[in-house]
Amino acid sequence: MDLGIKGKKALICASSKGLGLGCARALAAEGVDLVMNARGVEALEASAAAIRDEFGVNVETVACDVSTADGQAALIAAAEGVDILVNNAGGPPPGMWTDWDRDDFIKALDANMLTPITLIKALVPAMMERGWGRVVNITSQSVKAPIPVLGLSNSARAGLTGYVAGTSRQVAGSGVTINNLLPGIHATDRAAALDAGVSKQQGISVDDAKVNRCKTIPAGRYGTAEEFGSTCAFLCSQHAGFIVGQNVLLDGGGVNSTM
Ligand code: NAD
Repeated sequence: MDLGIKGKKALICASSKGLGLGCARALAAEGVDLVMNARGVEALEASAAAIRDEFGVNVETVACDVSTADGQAALIAAAEGVDILVNNAGGPPPGMWTDWDRDDFIKALDANMLTPITLIKALVPAMMERGWGRVVNITSQSVKAPIPVLGLSNSARAGLTGYVAGTSRQVAGSGVTINNLLPGIHATDRAAALDAGVSKQQGISVDDAKVNRCKTIPAGRYGTAEEFGSTCAFLCSQHAGFIVGQNVLLDGGGVNSTM
């Protein structure tokens, strides 16, 4: 299927690795020019070079922390006129509900709620003026079913989800869609770090932690960044213009619910 977005331009935050990179690669495969971002220059430049070589699209890079005001200003300057925005940042650390103080919550809210909101506010008005735009926020399955050790993530992502629910309906009439993609467990560095945490906590090997986690997923495996990226590219396509304010779960059936 031709997604109809060849020649569009996209900003993909936190995209040198993992799910962000999966989205960048899937959009590049459709002929979309990219602005890619991550904190570390080396991995960012390597991923950008690989995409230029493989797909022949233009790729600009902005090495910065997307959760900081300076980082956001640099990204907004580089991304002026983008048609597509994919919001992403690293997730907050795990812990116990009694662990976190105000600063921990502010950090999580900054990275996983206020950063995407800042970028939406900066970049969506020009999309509305042009009558076309796509925003996809990478959130988490924790929006549908809380993950006890990820209370900071549960909280910050619920806040973003509420903002998107209202805002997406205010901009849809101008041809701009905003949706959220909710990853269940995917094989990335983040998943490896979560499995390492379980291994330490339960005194089992990392492999056993992964096998045990797979047993909780009806699909019996972790998702891949390629699958995730393809779904993101579809939500950014011409065909997805009637999908507004949705929370699309990619979790291999892990969240047990009827709807
Ligand atoms: P990852 O840790 O594998 O990749 C993170 C990428 O983001 C890297 O490119 C890193 O450089 C970049 N990055 C992280 N923080 C950044 C920041 N502040 N500024 C700029 N770049 C930054 O993560 P992932 O597995 O790809 O997950 C992406 C998002 O999805 C995270 O918020 C994560 O919590 C969430 N999520 C992931 C899973 C999973 O199983 N992988 C499940 C649920 C939710």
